[in-house]
Amino acid sequence: MITTDILIIGAGPTGLFTVFEAGLLKLKCHLIDALPQPGGQCSEIYPKKPIYDIPAYPEILAGDLTDKLLEQCKQFEPGFTLGERAETIDKQEDGTFIVTTNKGTKHHAPVVAIAGGLGSFEPRKPLIHNIADFEDKGVEYIIKDPEMYRNKRVVIAGGGDSALDWSIFLSDVASEVTLIHRRNEFRGHLDSVEKVQELKNAGKINLITPAEVVGIVGNDKVKAVVVKQAQHIEKEFEVECDHFVPLFGLSPKLGPIANWGLEIEKNAIKVNNALDYQTNIPGIFAIGDVNTYPGKLKLILCGFHEATLMCQAAYQIINPGKRYVLKYTTVSGVDGFDGTRKEAPKAVVKAIE
Ligand SMILES: Cc1cc2nc3c(=O)[nH]c(=O)nc-3n(C[C@H](O)[C@H](O)[C@H](O)COP(=O)(O)OP(=O)(O)OC[C@H]3O[C@@H](n4cnc5c(N)ncnc54)[C@H](O)[C@@H]3O)c2cc1C
Repeated sequence: MITTDILIIGAGPTGLFTVFEAGLLKLKCHLIDALPQPGGQCSEIYPKKPIYDIPAYPEILAGDLTDKLLEQCKQFEPGFTLGERAETIDKQEDGTFIVTTNKGTKHHAPVVAIAGGLGSFEPRKPLIHNIADFEDKGVEYIIKDPEMYRNKRVVIAGGGDSALDWSIFLSDVASEVTLIHRRNEFRGHLDSVEKVQELKNAGKINLITPAEVVGIVGNDKVKAVVVKQAQHIEKEFEVECDHFVPLFGLSPKLGPIANWGLEIEKNAIKVNNALDYQTNIPGIFAIGDVNTYPGKLKLILCGFHEATLMCQAAYQIINPGKRYVLKYTTVSGVDGFDGTRKEAPKAVVKAIE
């Protein structure tokens, strides 16, 4: 059982900033995320895109923003359960909560902050009749550990940045990489498209376009994919492989959280925005893109603001009756849980002769 003060569901920008704000109040946080890495939409959907409306950053790449948030909260030593989806929540007699993931990991906390964004990201699966039979038997929708593909024959399907980037990366790891896309044109960074062209010319990536994977061959493991190519005349053939990785993007789903007894409106969790972003269940808060209230804006800076106010309310639940006096970090400094201390240089009394 993992125990913490605030259990945060979702390690996107809102969840990560919550760790910092909670740390200032000496509250410990643990984050659960269905994705294998922190950063939410910023790292999963648009890590290389510049954001222009983060206060004090005229321009910052979404991936760099995630790195900065991780750096800022590191001193408060957050725990992470990554690659697991929060599935169930059980309120205990003492008012605390136990949240269990789809892999059975249990987390216990007096306060739960749902920072689940648009929901947990589920892979968009291609419509191949027997694909479910081969999931985790050679078919993967997300590449978690590229080493798994060392010296293996890999077929990647897709026409976006993920398909391009992984084809490039795996061309140095796998024994054979085949990239299949239903159009001749790819939608991605120019650099990546040009790199794939270069690797194709060098014989390091086999490119099959315009084509689609329409079937999978194998017994208990993938042995080949059936490809339908539509150039001049339609033809079907098999490409032998050990892995088939369709990278058609991820679609967010509120998922299991929708069944937690929370008030839901238009696929978002209703909160009390006049006060502290608490939901209809005391002790459960919803912050960032996942919540809704009159005038709600799904912006990163709004998530930061909501996280800050929510932490004050969490402090009161965890320390009933104790008064917290807000101090500027310029005045109080920051005491990390890792023993570090940051503070502004102190004023000195010294005569000038
Ligand atoms: C292309 C694009 C461009 C954008 N540009 C801007 C911009 O310029 N400026 C701006 O302010 N905003 C922008 N946004 C919006 C911004 O990214 C979001 O407002 C922000 O990511 C919300 O942060 P969050 O932490 O609330 O949620 P998210 O970033 O969505 O993170 C939520 C996390 O929760 C996880 N999760 C959900 N449910 C579960 C569960 N049950 N168990 C485990 N994990 C779960 C998800 O896997 C996800 O990682 C953009 C969005 C997109 C898609």
